[in-house]
Amino acid sequence: MDNQAITLALETSTALCRDAHAVALQASELVALNRVRLREQAERTSVRNRRWIIREKLWDGRLPCDRPAVVRGGPGRGEMCAGCETITSASQLVMELPGVDDEPLTYLHADCFQVWETLRRLTVAHPEDRALVRVR
Ligand SMILES: [Zn+2]
Repeated sequence: MDNQAITLALETSTALCRDAHAVALQASELVALNRVRLREQAERTSVRNRRWIIREKLWDGRLPCDRPAVVRGGPGRGEMCAGCETITSASQLVMELPGVDDEPLTYLHADCFQVWETLRRLTVAHPEDRALVRVR
């Protein structure tokens, strides 16, 4: 192989490597963008699911419609969230609703508590059969 052919091969190889690097960089950026979009979609789905679950629990009485006078908050200690039914952790703010009479405490993640607080205001108990009626 003469020097001219070797030089041409090196230049071609360098150009191909540069193009491949640009394509790899572009692909990496697209992967990162897709991850962000998937995370946002998962968060929206999670919020919708949380609202739906808490709404159902308000309607069937698994969550109280009345807010107790005192609600405490603090880091989770492994309790089951009554809203989303996942275990709380120390990195999460958890609200503690005292039970009436002998009822046990109810624990809600702060996000679940906010959803519960909003939805319970939109829901009232029917006076005769205690069935829950949604107010528009
Ligand atoms: Zn929760």
